[in-house]
Amino acid sequence: MLPRLVVLAVLSAGCLPALRAQSRFATLAAEIDRRAAAALPRVVAWRRDIHQHPELSFAEVRTAKLVADQLTALGLEVRTGVARTGVVGVLRGARSGPVVALRADMDGLPVTELVDLPFKSTVRTQYNGQEVGVMHACGHDNHVAILLGTAEVLAGMRERLPGTVKFIFQPAEESVSGAQLMITEGVLEDPAPQAIFGLHVWPAPLGTISYRAGPFMAASDGLNIVVRGRQTHGALPWGGVDPIVVASQIVLALQTIPSRQLDVTRAPAIVTVGMIRGGTRGNIIPDSVILEGTVRTFDEGMRADVKQRIRRTVEQIAQSAGATAVVDFGTANAPVTINDSALTEQVLPTLRRVAGPDKVLLAGLSMPSEDFAYYQQRVPGVFFFLGVAPDGQDPRTVAPNHSPYFFADEGALPVGVRALASLAVDYLTSAVPGR
Ligand SMILES: [Zn+2]
Ligand SMILES: [Zn+2]
Repeated sequence: MLPRLVVLAVLSAGCLPALRAQSRFATLAAEIDRRAAAALPRVVAWRRDIHQHPELSFAEVRTAKLVADQLTALGLEVRTGVARTGVVGVLRGARSGPVVALRADMDGLPVTELVDLPFKSTVRTQYNGQEVGVMHACGHDNHVAILLGTAEVLAGMRERLPGTVKFIFQPAEESVSGAQLMITEGVLEDPAPQAIFGLHVWPAPLGTISYRAGPFMAASDGLNIVVRGRQTHGALPWGGVDPIVVASQIVLALQTIPSRQLDVTRAPAIVTVGMIRGGTRGNIIPDSVILEGTVRTFDEGMRADVKQRIRRTVEQIAQSAGATAVVDFGTANAPVTINDSALTEQVLPTLRRVAGPDKVLLAGLSMPSEDFAYYQQRVPGVFFFLGVAPDGQDPRTVAPNHSPYFFADEGALPVGVRALASLAVDYLTSAVPGR
């Protein structure tokens, strides 16, 4: 048995580093909050400027220049033209340590803005042969402004940073191609991050953070089907092969894959046909019909299984009618967004401190997809939603992302800056104990 004094000495020696670490976290947190508050007027100004000048996927030239100019002014190492219009900034802290990456996406959508704002977008462009408006209808203007604000906060704390922060400004999230191209062009190397964080503005209560460990957002696969029959007179169907009837059978049969064939207690899945195109006149049976849709899953095994079942269903229904059908899942696809469970657990105290313990919410599965998932396939990462529904409005009924009425309340911007800055600092600090 140890004498009582020795026990006390051992206990207090064990507690001291923990106490020191706690007070170090507290002073760093206070400095982040102070610097984030000071940066806020610029964050709001960047957000409005970018909102008023949205650019489509891989056309984010003006946005990229704004980002590169700002990162350069902060003294970061800046690489431009990554994945065509992407920008990467590297901030090396004064002390050595791990590397953490923060990511924002920069592109807008071919949507004509209907929100009445002083900084409303009036930009127009050609898209798929149509003249359309361009709008930050998914709120990526907020993501860019938040990450620029985070860069300003952390650049001011360089002397206290034990490690490196990599700022990834990615193009073309909406076309689900920017993340993959950035990875191909080396964004996760030299220096290679050990963790990555990202956020998305979402119609949740203002200033809340919604998270989920494990599968969070769905895998998304395109669905393109061409059904080929044989043209004939509408009054003489036996003279040809009717692709419209075959396409109709296919649409209904595809619905039986999630509802009758998959074990939906494992994970939900969706097969949607969103477009049917075929024929020119009511009394002419056409040669072919084109179907387009989307497939959503939460498990890579189920994802492969659903695709195989879709192929079988489409091809065999066509064959039974004497038609042919070809299925193509396209290339603009995203895997399941999977938050690393241990890292999610590790960062929860940070998120609770930033948003407030009652404003960090456990999210359900989310059917939209995110190409952030590609980074998470290589680096443990956490992606979360930042609530931007205005106070006093029901988040369930406000206009969702991609709507011409989508509106993000700027009240969430400081929470976003504090969240990303704190995640980076807490990750670097806790990965280097005793510093
Ligand atoms: Zn979107
Ligand atoms: Zn988005």
